[in-house]
Amino acid sequence: MNAPAATAIERRLAISGGEPVFVEPLHVGRPNVGDRARLHRRLDGVLDRGWLTNHGPCEREFEARLAEHSGVRHCLAVANATLGLQMTMMALGVRGEVLMPAFTFIATPHAARLAGLTPVFCDVLPGCPQVDPADVARKITPRTSAILGVHVYGQCCDVDALAAIAREHDLGLIFDAAHAFGCSYGGRAVGGFGEAEVFSFHATKFANAFEGGAIATNNDALADRLRALRDFGIEASGRNVCLGMNAKLSEIHAAMGLTSLEAMDEIIAANRRNAQAYREDLADVPGIELIAPVDPQQQNAQYVVIRVREEEFGLSADTLQRVLRAENILARRYFSPGCHRLAPYAGDDGTAATPLPNTETLSRDVLALPTGTAVGSKQIDAIASLIHASRQRASQINMRGEE
Ligand SMILES: *Cc1c(COP(=O)(O)O)cnc(C)c1O
Repeated sequence: MNAPAATAIERRLAISGGEPVFVEPLHVGRPNVGDRARLHRRLDGVLDRGWLTNHGPCEREFEARLAEHSGVRHCLAVANATLGLQMTMMALGVRGEVLMPAFTFIATPHAARLAGLTPVFCDVLPGCPQVDPADVARKITPRTSAILGVHVYGQCCDVDALAAIAREHDLGLIFDAAHAFGCSYGGRAVGGFGEAEVFSFHATKFANAFEGGAIATNNDALADRLRALRDFGIEASGRNVCLGMNAKLSEIHAAMGLTSLEAMDEIIAANRRNAQAYREDLADVPGIELIAPVDPQQQNAQYVVIRVREEEFGLSADTLQRVLRAENILARRYFSPGCHRLAPYAGDDGTAATPLPNTETLSRDVLALPTGTAVGSKQIDAIASLIHASRQRASQINMRGEE
């Protein structure tokens, strides 16, 4: 085993009373801002025009760039991905039950519930963050009308298998691609799979518009319905044609989104460098396995996620998170617990209606580590040294925890 730096081994861990390694906190998902001067120029343009929202030039340009990047005919900018998902299910006329993984952010089932649907949770594949298509097929009932796949950590779920199930049972197929802008599957950009895919441009996501999202689709009729739905039910001619909401993206958000897109190549390069550094530094730590990104060439590598196997590593993911937090390394438990254990989908005590054994194991073991343009290889080396040191002192750390 690669000996960790002597300094890291000899110093006291912060959880045992030592000084934290980092003075400033290191975060997962610091915003990727891009060129500030360009952002300021765009904002001046917005104010000079006095056109602040309602499909202004920044929003249109943002939509055009998104459609181009993801190779789809339509990309509708929306206020956020949660509304985007809800609208897509409404516009597709989805009814009854929607199959989706429980290993996702809570916004995925909320969007379905807000659209008046019942989320039905499916398990993930063993040791893998993606939904198990066999479990999706097993959970189909006469009330099922759609599958909502999630590209967790920007790694695509099994799009082909889900598409085959959807075809066979005549179900709608939508993807929550909140993590997956700039990712691809089998060499094809995310955006064109299923009937629609929904991106998020929330501040913590790969590309950011402060808040924002987009619905990508190649279906012209669906795009028209979504445009009306986004805008109080008013269609392009100005006529009110259906029930609608307000899910428009303002110019200021679109200006940020455009600026962030311009920095994409740089952000991806930094993310991939970081992922590679983590991979090398953690390769020989027993019980630690990098589960994202698995294929950095097809991913935006926005999330670096490890699985902590307690039997081998000596500490649980939860305890390792506390050790790292004491050092100002703000690792996150994406996604723990699974949505099936959260309100309003679980009992008050977190009991799940459906047993999802692989989801339980995975959510017990995952830990997302800091990455992005604000993190560099020196910091990653220090984080990895701390993980090495934590393993060596696992029994002391566990004893303290029980005091
Ligand atoms: C962030 C996120 C969402 C919600 O996106 P918003 O734009 O914040 O509404 C939905 N699904 C997943 C998997 C997410 O991570």
